[in-house]
Amino acid sequence: KLGNETIKQELGRASWKLLHTMLARFPEKPTADEREALKSYLYLFGRLYPCGECATHFRLLLQKYPPQTSSRDAASQWGCVVHNAVNERLRKEIFDCGTIADKYHCGCAEEDEKKKK
Ligand code: FAD
Repeated sequence: KLGNETIKQELGRASWKLLHTMLARFPEKPTADEREALKSYLYLFGRLYPCGECATHFRLLLQKYPPQTSSRDAASQWGCVVHNAVNERLRKEIFDCGTIADKYHCGCAEEDEKKKK
């Protein structure tokens, strides 16, 4: 368990940012291999996340909400729901998942080009 609340919060913000951005860039039509990769990533994230209390809670959330990997949209919405479950537990504001598609960008040129077309 990380003792310092500030470090835990910074780690949380950085981790959510990475997670949501990754899900927002997940293929719209993933292959079986890509789906398996995302699923593995999420379960390993739950094992290795370096805040023990957070990781334990996240593993329970994975049981309750199995990762959705069928499409970019399904994966992004799943990430939003899981983050909201953490928000609820920590008594934070609930995020409107309808707006998530506009929020997370990676700044990757080729993805931005594709979006314009
Ligand atoms: P954060 O919750 O970090 O969110 C950052 C930004 O993401 C918000 O400002 C908002 O713009 C956006 N956002 C908010 N909700 C959503 C959503 N549902 N979908 C998409 N975007 C959203 N901390 C603990 O103290 N105890 C725990 O058990 C714990 N478990 C955690 C488990 C995981 C897997 C992770 C990644 C973090 C965990 N944290 C935990 C950290 C905690 O969730 C916060 O990251 C931290 O408290 C900082 O909160 P924040 O208010 O800055 O916003």
